[in-house]
Order: sequence, then C-alpha cells, then structure tokens
Amino acid sequence: MRTAPRQYAELHLHLGGAVLPRILYSYLHKVKFDRLHPDKLAIAHQYLKTYPTYERWEKKLTKPSKTLTEYLEAHKIVEPLQTVSSVAYMVNRLLRGCYVFENLAYLELRYNPYFRIDRTLPTSQAVDKMKELVATIHATAAANFREFPIVFSQILCMDSRLPNEINAAIAGIASEMKAEVCAVDLAGPDTVYQERREELLSSIKYAREKLGLNVTTHLFETTSGSLEELVPYCDRIGHGIQIPLHYPHLLPLLAKNRICLEICPTTYFRTGSIQSYAELRPVFQTCFDLGVAIAVCTDNSGLHGVRLPLEFERLLTHKVINFHEMEVCRENAFRHAFRWPGLVERRD
Ligand SMILES: [Zn+2]
Repeated sequence: MRTAPRQYAELHLHLGGAVLPRILYSYLHKVKFDRLHPDKLAIAHQYLKTYPTYERWEKKLTKPSKTLTEYLEAHKIVEPLQTVSSVAYMVNRLLRGCYVFENLAYLELRYNPYFRIDRTLPTSQAVDKMKELVATIHATAAANFREFPIVFSQILCMDSRLPNEINAAIAGIASEMKAEVCAVDLAGPDTVYQERREELLSSIKYAREKLGLNVTTHLFETTSGSLEELVPYCDRIGHGIQIPLHYPHLLPLLAKNRICLEICPTTYFRTGSIQSYAELRPVFQTCFDLGVAIAVCTDNSGLHGVRLPLEFERLLTHKVINFHEMEVCRENAFRHAFRWPGLVERRD
C-alpha cells in the first residue's frame, strides 16, 4: 500500500484523550435516558450533575497541568465512558475526524483495557472482558474502513500503577490477539517508575522476550521517567525528550537499535515539561545529527484540540524543523509503524 501525498501516520494516540470533549458531552446527553443500560445512565447523570454545562466539562478536561500525574487525571474521567457497550460510538467518531480533518492513512490507537472494565472482577473474567473490548474496537475500525480507509491497529497499555499480574494479563491478550493488537506500551505516572523499576523491567522483558511482542514505552518524558535499563527492550520510545537533553550517551544505542522517538510537542506544554518551542529545537536537531528517528505524534489530540498536521505546522512556524525535516519525520512514522503494510510515498 502506498500513501498519497500529504497523508500522515499517527503512532502515539491515547483513546482516553483522542475523542473531542464535545463528542463525549454529546454522548452523555445521548445516554442519559438509556434505561436499557443502567450503568451508562448512572454515569451520565453523575457527570452531567457535576458538569451541567459543556463549558465546565471542556474546562475540566482541557485545563493545563503542572505535572504529568495531574495531566493524566482527565483520562480517569474519560475511561469509564469507554466501555464495551459505548466504545464503538467513540471510535467511529474518532476515525471520522482522523480521516476528514487529519488525512491519516495509518493509526495505532493505544489504551489500557483494564481501566475500561469492571475492576472488581477476578483476573480470568477480567481477561475475557478486556478481550471483548479489544474485539469491539477492532470490529468498529473494520466496519468503518470503507468510509474512512485508515489502516488501524491497537496498542495495549500496561500501567505503572498496576500489579505485575494485571500487566502480564494485558501483555497476554496482546499476544493472543495479534490480528487486532500490534504492540504493548507502558503508561501511567512516571513518579513511581524508580520505586517499581524491577517490576516494570520484568513486565517489559516478559512482553518482549517471552511473548515476542513489539514494545513501545513511555520513557524519559519527564526527568522522573528515566529508566535506562528498559531502553534495550523498546522498539520505540514514547516521548524520550529527556534523552537528547540530558542523557545523550543513549543516542548511539537508539540509532543502532533503530529505536524511534514518538515526540508529542503539545503534551510537553500541557504537562509543564517545557515552556517554549525553542526548548524542542535541540531535541530534534541532536537526534537528526546522530541518526535517531523521530515521529511526530499528538498523544491526546482530542483533549489538546490539536490535530497532527497542526503539530507539524507549529514546529515549522517556530523553526524547530524545516520542511525537509518535516518530511523525514512524516516518513519515519510510516517506517516505524508496527503494521503499515507497504511503501512510503515521497512528496514532490
Ligand atoms: Zn502517551
């Protein structure tokens, strides 16, 4: 499969932050009378009581944060809305927006399935429910392919807050459902990375070495997320901006192992990691100089209100990259995609 000119691949997008607040709010109104699904009805009433106007809802979901942990709070609000019975509605609207407004040819959508099921279930039943969710998202994308032809795959996120048993179960699902899932990720607050370093390393090694899965990991996003020992087990790194800034000795290893950095510029402003685009310039330029691939991604385009072409445009406007470098990054996303089926077409 070839890409048409100006098409994009999105490698780092969280389901929890991908759906526009307006669509989520419309969903709450849509299900507030749904007596067939008391669980949906209950949460819709609870949220609409707490956020009686769209403006309050949007403000809560999009407010700037001082830290990554604070930033992730918005996902906790959205996750309970993305269950087996509702996720098709969300993914349909997401794909529509990605196709119409972003010109995406390829999308890897990531999420933690455990945060979208009843967490009181015993592990074996939880696994069945998580598989149902994965299958539902896959079926939704397949059903929408004719109208929104985006090559689509899923990345299942393990989480820094979850016990090893659950993270292993998530990796196990990725291994069993290879047609639906292309990789696993490690996400969640990085403030616990240091205290859980042994457990997190064993989860990643299990996924990569025992199950043979593709691995991308949220690492070196902030100064707390610096677990060097995980790097050799990654195919890609989510963010990694601290590496060129503070751990440049790792760059030759990234280049040698062809580990691509998934850079999500808007996130760093939202989490307070950086204050200006000027701080991103050395991140890109150092990686270019040492042959480390960068793919530009949105992370949470719905909550940021910034789609992928605009991420590129802002990097250009602020002279972080030039047009040639933009094209290199655009192609990198296809080259480092876990499931892109074909060639990458160059633009004239
Ligand atoms: Zn992320």
